[in-house]
Amino acid sequence: MINFEYTRVSSVKAAVDTLAKNPTGGFIAGGTNLIDLMKKGVTTPTRLIDINNLPLKDIEETIAGLKIGALAINSEVSQNEIVKEKYPLLMMALKAGASAQLRNMATVGGNMMQRTRCTYFYDIAMPCNKRQPGSGCGAFQGYNRMHAIFGASNKCIAVHPSDMCVALAALNATVTVSGPKGERKILFTDFHRLPGDNPEKDNTLLKGELITGVTIPKNNFTKNVYYLKIRDRASYAFALISVAAALELNGNTIKAARLAMGGVAHKPWRLTEAEKFLTGKTATKENFTKAAELAMKGAKAYGHNDFKLKMGPIAIVEALMKAAQ
Ligand code: SF4
Repeated sequence: MINFEYTRVSSVKAAVDTLAKNPTGGFIAGGTNLIDLMKKGVTTPTRLIDINNLPLKDIEETIAGLKIGALAINSEVSQNEIVKEKYPLLMMALKAGASAQLRNMATVGGNMMQRTRCTYFYDIAMPCNKRQPGSGCGAFQGYNRMHAIFGASNKCIAVHPSDMCVALAALNATVTVSGPKGERKILFTDFHRLPGDNPEKDNTLLKGELITGVTIPKNNFTKNVYYLKIRDRASYAFALISVAAALELNGNTIKAARLAMGGVAHKPWRLTEAEKFLTGKTATKENFTKAAELAMKGAKAYGHNDFKLKMGPIAIVEALMKAAQ
């Protein structure tokens, strides 16, 4: 671990200004991923800018939906009464993530900023285009059981590890960020990016920008939702595959459907074709199976993760069946 300087700030402006003056620095909130990255020498910020005192912890209902501050703690969001009643898909995804101890430290913004858990990324003796652009990809020919089946490139086949982000992508959330040029909003589905030729970039944040919050628009996905997470252990394990499923039902007819997968791509993977197919159909296993077939179009595996091609459609059908119940 390298030496670094430490600054604590108490306003968004001070945070943004401090990073602008220290471009090789970085923000720290819960630190649940960043400290690991620093210990292993994967990330080497010269100054940590502690943002824990910023007024970004509120969870509030507005006319438009639910506003969650970037520093709201994952466990507090999952236990919030409005979230439980009106955004239960988010609650389920948060509870599926990490361990209780980590959820008590991790923030919403930090959860979005966490890096892939590809083991080659964390081993600085191995080639990794994401850690060191141009060095190669250890996982391509190596052990790639946890890796992507959608949207990968020949530079990187890593997956985004978050559960919370899969639910936020399904719920059409928006991210608010502040930077040297002011505030802007990014659709959640545009926040994380595919690796392409630049896998070192996980997201579409511009230089010096800070996430300040997330907004989920009002919706009717309050009853028929399910977050299915398939993993090697019952707790404290990243998803092999996860599925966020939300249905708005009128009797047995699907008025609206939302579907997203985790553990399969460099970003939460929204299944829009399957959603369109399901809209107006009856909520039957047969229709869910057809939707899963559509969702898996274009999937490609890399050897050790071949099983995901079979597991994917089964997981989609199961999540939809549970949501419909
Ligand atoms: Fe690095 Fe991506 Fe390859 Fe993993 S899959 S070794 S993160 S380039």
